[in-house]
Amino acid sequence: MNDDVLDQYREAGRIANRILSAGASMVRPGAGVLETVDALEAMVLEADAGLAFPLNCSFNEAAAHDTASEDDERLFSPGDLVKLDLGVHLDGYVADTAVTIDLGDHAELVRASRAALDAAIALAQPGVTTGELGAAIQAAIEGHGFRPVANLTGHGLNQFLLHGPPSVPNVGHPGGMPLQEGQVVAIEPFASTGSGFVSEAARVEIYGQVAVRPTRLPSTRRLLELVRERRGMPFSRRWLDVPKREVALANLVKQGIVRTYPVLHDLPGSFVSQAEHTLVILEDGCLVTTA
Ligand code: MN
Ligand code: MN
Repeated sequence: MNDDVLDQYREAGRIANRILSAGASMVRPGAGVLETVDALEAMVLEADAGLAFPLNCSFNEAAAHDTASEDDERLFSPGDLVKLDLGVHLDGYVADTAVTIDLGDHAELVRASRAALDAAIALAQPGVTTGELGAAIQAAIEGHGFRPVANLTGHGLNQFLLHGPPSVPNVGHPGGMPLQEGQVVAIEPFASTGSGFVSEAARVEIYGQVAVRPTRLPSTRRLLELVRERRGMPFSRRWLDVPKREVALANLVKQGIVRTYPVLHDLPGSFVSQAEHTLVILEDGCLVTTA
């Protein structure tokens, strides 16, 4: 990786860290979800950076992929366990970082995902396999008495590519890919009081383009022009101000041009915590860009 690219990753990481820290202090009982998400996303744009994906704001048993809808009236409430997951990019170089805010009595669950992330960061260097990272994550979470979420993973990052190889599991397995110098990876342990498996909810607020293909209907074409500006990075329904938006979005999904990112949740009544940082793998260890 050349120095200019490394600088972009570092600067994106600094911006993401600053804004996520601000976000953590804004999540308080009585605060509005929409107002909070809007304010934090605006801070990214004010920093002359881009959003690599809509700010995820997921509650309690929801692990990921929730965000505010444009008419969202939800407030943060006492007892909530809130995950904020922020993606900032500079020229496509992404900082992906998440924090869990505990408005209830879930301190140990929050510690579990953080300890797992710390354990993985301590191991990360060239030659260490993704299976070994998963084993360290699993051991830390189980050591706190919870289950790692087995069907969510960390991921490699590349310019404008949010989910590339290698996949970094949250459970151990033999083999896996050895980390290489110059790789950029986001590691994101999830700890759960539920089953340790997430499934898709009906709620969808986040979408992403997955294929390049023309479309015929004028309203759908207008929406696709907006979507193309994302260069494959996910976007929120809330961001799209076009006529016949719902029909156009549904068309793009049906045609396989756009995919949905449904909210992912563990069992009803369970709680899931998340911690995430972005790392650049260096010759003798790693640089955490988002710390
Ligand atoms: Mn993330
Ligand atoms: Mn991620």
